[in-house]
Amino acid sequence: MTTVVTDNCQRCRYTDCVTVCPVACFHGDDEMLYIDPAVCIDCGACIPTCPVEAIYEDPIPEEKRRWIAINAERAPRLPVISKKQEPYPGAEERKKQLGFE
Ligand code: SF4
Ligand code: SF4
Repeated sequence: MTTVVTDNCQRCRYTDCVTVCPVACFHGDDEMLYIDPAVCIDCGACIPTCPVEAIYEDPIPEEKRRWIAINAERAPRLPVISKKQEPYPGAEERKKQLGFE
């Protein structure tokens, strides 16, 4: 099993996802979050919390599969994000652009 964060997460920072993760496996840079596959237990708890449907579990659609390697490579190099943060300015606008109310 694999659970990954994908491009819809860019410039969001709603971070609803991190508050439900039982193993604190979300990491982040200034752009978005990534899941460390070595720590994630694939419980799926984070998936329904994401307001822009950025998190995918198996079967990951073909067009999102490149994010498997990106999450694995980026997450271990970045700080853990385990507390909810303020959304980025423009996050609401971006959410609308992505087609979510
Ligand atoms: S809630 Fe979704 S878009 Fe926001 S930080 Fe978490 S994964 Fe990224
Ligand atoms: S699937 Fe579970 S363990 Fe993995 S990132 Fe989401 S909440 Fe955390």
